[in-house]
Amino acid sequence: MPRRKLPLKACLKCKYLVELRAEICPNCGSKDFSEEWEGLVIIIDVDKSEIADVLNITKPGRYALKVR
Ligand SMILES: [Zn+2]
Repeated sequence: MPRRKLPLKACLKCKYLVELRAEICPNCGSKDFSEEWEGLVIIIDVDKSEIADVLNITKPGRYALKVR
């Protein structure tokens, strides 16, 4: 399966994924983003998600696993 990049960029601070046209991270308010990210985690229920716990995620949303 060819890997096509999603039109998203990741917040450098909290790894929250936003659309390319977004200027401010809705999660932490940061303005620093990177389009070089890997892995996609979707957190729906923060309280029940072990991944959210490990990654220190407190808000539902899409997150990158790795941001360069
Ligand atoms: Zn952020």
